[in-house]
Amino acid sequence: MKEKCPFKIGDMVIYNPSRRGYDLVDGERLEIGKEYRVSMIEQDSYIVAEGYDHPGGGIYWTEFEQVDSGATMNKVQVRCWKVPVPGAGTGDHLLITYPEGHYGHSLLSCLNCGEVYAVTVAKETYVGPPLKQKLSGLKCIKCGELLESTAAPYPDKFREENGTVCVYIRDKTIPDDEDSLIVELPDIYS
Ligand SMILES: [Zn+2]
Repeated sequence: MKEKCPFKIGDMVIYNPSRRGYDLVDGERLEIGKEYRVSMIEQDSYIVAEGYDHPGGGIYWTEFEQVDSGATMNKVQVRCWKVPVPGAGTGDHLLITYPEGHYGHSLLSCLNCGEVYAVTVAKETYVGPPLKQKLSGLKCIKCGELLESTAAPYPDKFREENGTVCVYIRDKTIPDDEDSLIVELPDIYS
């Protein structure tokens, strides 16, 4: 009994075949590790990749992996200030932002691995959905955990290199602009 293909037409999948599956293909092969769009699913199980009309029909779905939606998160440029904190998992410093009103970026981090994310406040406010809803179903691009359960405001909470979760209380005074730097961070609202 074959399992039904979990992918839908239009999904992006990565070709990651088994040795046996790869050897079974005669004629033109898909490229291993490349992303393909599912253009057809035959008998609920066989994927036909867009642009490939394989004479033998589709390829069994277990030869593909879902493209991790988190992996395609766009980066955004964020103005922040570095605060030295030995042992912080982000290179012995924390990054701090000062969003003002509906401008700028607030930060989150995954407490499971330490990856830092930007939240573009204007998008959160005017485009939505609310952050909690936006995080549901989003996976950490580094560790793959669901961000709805691992993400926390950063650096209010941050993960040290050794895994300890620490608390940081930020200075209320905004430092001088000239001490700031621009870093690229994955944008939750991308
Ligand atoms: Zn993570």
